[in-house]
Amino acid sequence: MSDVFKGSFTQQEPIPEAGIDAAVAVMRHGRLHRYNTVAGETAQTVLLEQEFAASVGAKYCLAVASGGYAMATALRAVGVKAGDRVLTNAFTLAPVPGAIAAVGAVPVFVGVTPQLVLDLDDLAAKADQATVLLLSHMRGHICDMERLMHICARAGVTMIEDCAHTMGAAWKGKPSGTWGTVGCYSCQTYKHINSGEGGLLITDDAQIAARAIMYSGSYMLYESHQAGPPKETFETIRFETPNISGRMDNLRAAILRPQLADLPTQCARWNERYLAVENDVAGTVGLTVIQRPAEESFVGSSIQFLLPDWTGEAVQQAVARCAARGVELKWFGGAEPVGFTSRYDSWRYVNAPAMPKSDQVLAGIIDMRVPLTFSLEDCAQIGRIIREEVSRVYQASR
Ligand SMILES: *Cc1c(COP(=O)(O)O)cnc(C)c1O
Repeated sequence: MSDVFKGSFTQQEPIPEAGIDAAVAVMRHGRLHRYNTVAGETAQTVLLEQEFAASVGAKYCLAVASGGYAMATALRAVGVKAGDRVLTNAFTLAPVPGAIAAVGAVPVFVGVTPQLVLDLDDLAAKADQATVLLLSHMRGHICDMERLMHICARAGVTMIEDCAHTMGAAWKGKPSGTWGTVGCYSCQTYKHINSGEGGLLITDDAQIAARAIMYSGSYMLYESHQAGPPKETFETIRFETPNISGRMDNLRAAILRPQLADLPTQCARWNERYLAVENDVAGTVGLTVIQRPAEESFVGSSIQFLLPDWTGEAVQQAVARCAARGVELKWFGGAEPVGFTSRYDSWRYVNAPAMPKSDQVLAGIIDMRVPLTFSLEDCAQIGRIIREEVSRVYQASR
């Protein structure tokens, strides 16, 4: 009798006690709005911004309502206007092209490589079609950032990073989010720190930071943004920037601060689990694990592997067999998106040409969440189930 995994792929860890205590304190005093403070009090939101900026070495930080809001605000703040074209990943999550559409701009999709990163040859070929790139480190895979920065610099492209899956990650020791002009993060439940919803935006550019603060709905209270630029920066920006409210509140910030303090420990725990799964699936015939470059410090909150050149039918069979044994795999190659969309051809509000090379990669990508509620034994069991079922289907199809 083959074993069945009983754990939940969608169960996160509880909020740390320190976060619960801090949240209760905010609820007891009732000042949830970030600008509602008493004399001598620094809002939880401001403290979170200061601590996050310090953790990645950014000059300025703004806490907002979601990762999607952070990206749309970043696009507005760097000057993207309705009708502009914006380069972005063909393989990412719906909020990324959605942020581009939110500002009335048009995504230009750049392909994905078998290493699951942005295809830099495709980027180089398309770099003259736009002045901004919204780069998504989809599923935590980081491309050669030096080469990417070189391509962007040569083409005069401003780069914004979507770090929803790379909070705590780095390329050559430089934190993800600090390579671009703006870095955007999500604090939605399935990301690396959890306040249900929430986002963070970082930049070293004073003008961009000032515009982002005004857009987020700071009224004329920008001086309370201690992780923001000096007040002179707002001289004209405060009159020229529309208010598109998307602030974070003190309750969410209170929940997030202890999690941010724990982030390095949590990242190490994710990677232990990732490696435990990988250790078991590596070497399975017909399956390719994604080699992680030495320059990349990643956070293994999810794992991907490829079933290259498999028929759709065989992939579906392997996914179904794993599901029957309690292991939830996501296949990005299906004709109909399930649960969420991650492929350029699912976003039909964009008139995008077909991308056969990317289609071929996408047809073989299998994805799995690795929540911290899994023990290392759970991960080994999951890896074993995947190995057994993938081998079985592969051998039967030969
Ligand atoms: C979750 C996510 C975002 C942001 O999502 P929000 O729900 O708006 O916080 C952005 N990019 C990717 C790749 C994501 O997975």
